[in-house]
Amino acid sequence: MNIVSHIECSRCGKQLPPGRLYNLCECGGPLLVRYRLSSNAMPRDAVTARAKTLWRYREVLPLGGDASPVTLGEGFTPLLHATRLGERMGLPNLYLKDEGTNPTGSFKARGQSVAITMARELGVRKVAIPSAGNAGGAMAAYAAAAGLEALVYMPEGTPVMNRLECSILGAGVKLIAGSIKDCGRALAERIRSEGWFDVSTLKEPYRIEGKKTMAYEVVEQLDRVPEVMIYPTGGGTGLIGMWKAFAEMEQLGWTSGRRPRMIAVQATGCAPMVRAFEGGAERADEWVDPATIASGLRVPSAVGDALILRAIRESGGTAVAVDDDTMLRAVREIAQTEGVVTSPEGGATLGALERLRRQGLIAPSESVVLFLTGSGYKYLEALEAVAENSQQRRSGLHR
Ligand SMILES: *Cc1c(COP(=O)(O)O)cnc(C)c1O
Ligand SMILES: [Zn+2]
Repeated sequence: MNIVSHIECSRCGKQLPPGRLYNLCECGGPLLVRYRLSSNAMPRDAVTARAKTLWRYREVLPLGGDASPVTLGEGFTPLLHATRLGERMGLPNLYLKDEGTNPTGSFKARGQSVAITMARELGVRKVAIPSAGNAGGAMAAYAAAAGLEALVYMPEGTPVMNRLECSILGAGVKLIAGSIKDCGRALAERIRSEGWFDVSTLKEPYRIEGKKTMAYEVVEQLDRVPEVMIYPTGGGTGLIGMWKAFAEMEQLGWTSGRRPRMIAVQATGCAPMVRAFEGGAERADEWVDPATIASGLRVPSAVGDALILRAIRESGGTAVAVDDDTMLRAVREIAQTEGVVTSPEGGATLGALERLRRQGLIAPSESVVLFLTGSGYKYLEALEAVAENSQQRRSGLHR
């Protein structure tokens, strides 16, 4: 069933044998899984009948033979046709991919299901990660289900629920002053001395394989390729993964030629990709003093920066920064028009869409997918302000 051909370095092109544990290439580049793809490798009709989790795309996932995955029912999340919000935006073909319905409330479950499956399969006993938001809890959940030991390093400002879920799920949690970058530095020491397996963003090749399945789902659910995908970008696994998936789907005969424009959204308080994109750079410099309530976007430098920038440019997309107030206002707008309580990162996609519409960069006839990457239910501190604001507006109306 499995058609992995090899593992390939995205930077130097070196090819490595499949079915092994990997972190970065010796050149420092992120590694990607390559498959033997052809038009009969994964027929769409065969997939349609399968269970509604991301493991329905088994042929283009790295798990070999008939081994069983570590699954909590992740993936195949709803693609909602946002008719009321679409009307306000003048976009009849606006869709929300509601990733908040995943286990542990975010799309991080996708990456961790595949990464932890592969780690367990390849003999790992203990896994570690730096996380400023949802990645830690997702890793802790899959590690618990797989019977692996888990360790999470988090910045002190991480939302309360993200910290609590790690502890409840049995992971060791250590709080660090600074950003996720500082957590990564502190954790690297312990990984070396105690033999933990590092599942940091793009520092192993399998998380991205889980994240890419969002693109397969959108194509299945929409039954066509959308014109625009708007994605809140931190480490960039989702964006890079989906861009990879579009190339794969062409080889599988699922799509023909046209791919979406990929829009990367960041926070104005931490926008290294936007700055690099606008400056025409191939790599992104580290962002000093990152600050935003969207914890998933508080990533000052990304290991996959070159891949993110390449995907945006190849797709004819762009990169947009949105401020925190706009994100929160957008969270409320999505909630009150479509009934979905998303996280600030999800709100950021609507903020970006509003800007791009004003600039005339998206035509009314185009279909647009906003990726609501996480549930708002975990962002208690940030959303308190949104709720209070809504109450004030209501009492203003009723006076
Ligand atoms: C991690 C995270 C992001 C950023 O995802 P990447 O794929 O690493 O860029 C966006 N939104 C939420 C809710 C997240 O948890
Ligand atoms: Zn390399």
